Amino acid sequence: MSSKPQFSPLCDVHHATMRHVMLEEDSEDVRSCYACERRDCTRVFRDSNGYSDRIEGIFDDSRGFTQGCPRCGSALYLAAVNHSRKTETWECPQTGCDFSEDFPSPAAR
Ligand SMILES: [Zn+2]
Ligand SMILES: [Zn+2]
Repeated sequence: MSSKPQFSPLCDVHHATMRHVMLEEDSEDVRSCYACERRDCTRVFRDSNGYSDRIEGIFDDSRGFTQGCPRCGSALYLAAVNHSRKTETWECPQTGCDFSEDFPSPAAR
C-alpha cells in the first residue's frame, strides 16, 4: 500500500488548496502530510488518518474527519468542489485505486 506521488487535497473546511509538508517527528521516520495554505487554518491531511487539526505541532484528532474508501479502506481526500452543483468530489489517494465519489457540499445542506 503506497500513496500516489502526486495528489492535491483541498482543505475540507474552506476548500483552500493544501501544500505538501514533511514533518520531522521525534522518531526517525519523516511523515508526509498536507497543510492548508491559509495562515489562520490548522487543518492538515494525512494519508493514514485523513483530516485533522495540527495546533502548535500536536495533531488534534478530536477534530478529525475521515471518510474511508469503501474499496481499500484508505482515507479519502477532498479533490474538487463544484460550486454550481454544490458537490464535493472525494478521491482515494492509494496507488491502483481510482475510487472517487461526489457528495453534497456541507454548505448546501
Ligand atoms: Zn483550511
Ligand atoms: Zn481506495
